[in-house]
Amino acid sequence: MVLGKQGAGKGTQCLRLSHHYVVPHIATGDMLRAAVKAGTPLGQRAKALMDRGELLPDDLIMEMVADRLEEPDVRARGFILDGCPRTTRQAETLEEILRPAHLDLVIDLDVPTAQVLRRLASRRVCEDCGANYSLSQPPTVKWICDICGGEVVHREDDTEEAIQRRLELYEHQTAPLVAWYRARHLLARVSGVGAPDVVLGRLVKVVDRARQASS
Ligand code: AMP
Repeated sequence: MVLGKQGAGKGTQCLRLSHHYVVPHIATGDMLRAAVKAGTPLGQRAKALMDRGELLPDDLIMEMVADRLEEPDVRARGFILDGCPRTTRQAETLEEILRPAHLDLVIDLDVPTAQVLRRLASRRVCEDCGANYSLSQPPTVKWICDICGGEVVHREDDTEEAIQRRLELYEHQTAPLVAWYRARHLLARVSGVGAPDVVLGRLVKVVDRARQASS
């Protein structure tokens, strides 16, 4: 599982890790955006909260995650969880869902807030697979995703107010999970500063070490 502020490069790195280890990438934000796009009851409920940068209710999120974790691909190969848990209540529920298994590793991808704000201002995201781009690193063919061919857009919740609100919520609700997972000896802190390939290299090293230790 990867924790990190909005715009820390968490989404991109989780996607790349999931390709590297050939395991599913479970991103609650992507699942919610897909629900919004499909106009499902969940999506209709989620949209206004997401646009304002608010968190969705814990029960709703954890029900969605529990359903996804039941699927055979996850059971067979494990998974990379991205964007969840974001509150202690979600972390407790996740423990219950996974029991008797548990998360192998929680990575805190650390990027200073000033840099995160710069990245968010120019961030562009694939609507279909969630791949991240930016104004300075666009897809090869104009705003068509290099990975899946989806449309690359400016997220509706990447407004100044919503970004500010998401960072506030991160500090109050999500950052305490760093200590929570550290107390459970699951936490590794990795610097998210630097070129994406360099950051991926750091992540792979940490994940490989954890896998060796548990085998
Ligand atoms: P993300 O793509 O992870 O930045 O998530 C986009 C938005 O989806 C967030 O700002 C929240 O509104 C909502 N969301 C995603 N994951 C969660 C979660 N675990 N708990 C509550 N809300 C979430």
